Amino acid sequence: MPSTQHHTDILIIGSGIAGLSLALRLAPQYQITILSKNISTEGASYYAQGGIVAVFDQTDSIEAH
Ligand SMILES: Cc1cc2nc3c(=O)[nH]c(=O)nc-3n(C[C@H](O)[C@H](O)[C@H](O)COP(=O)(O)OP(=O)(O)OC[C@H]3O[C@@H](n4cnc5c(N)ncnc54)[C@H](O)[C@@H]3O)c2cc1C
Repeated sequence: MPSTQHHTDILIIGSGIAGLSLALRLAPQYQITILSKNISTEGASYYAQGGIVAVFDQTDSIEAH
């Protein structure tokens, strides 16, 4: 059986917003490979319709959201 080898600096599993945002941060310095079990329109990120919210710094809080 033939084997296929793929060399990469970093393997990210999952192509939702978490995986893609990490890939964007690391891409300038590393070669990134993203592996996902589904097509890109089948994660929770695709279904988020209200815009992704998060607490980014100390002037914000989870309670405020
Ligand atoms: C209907 C809906 C509406 C939402 N609305 C909002 C909103 O308005 N605002 C908000 O802030 N949040 C919302 N959310 C929550 C938000 O979408 C999620 O918190 C966020 O998208 C999670 O991102 P993620 O990258 O962690 O996961 P996901 O986007 O789910 O990505 C997970 C990835 O991992 C892959 N994966 C999973 N298991 C494996 C495996 N075993 N092997 C390989 N790959 C795998 C999947 O294929 C997918 O690519 C909503 C969620 C849903 C379901």
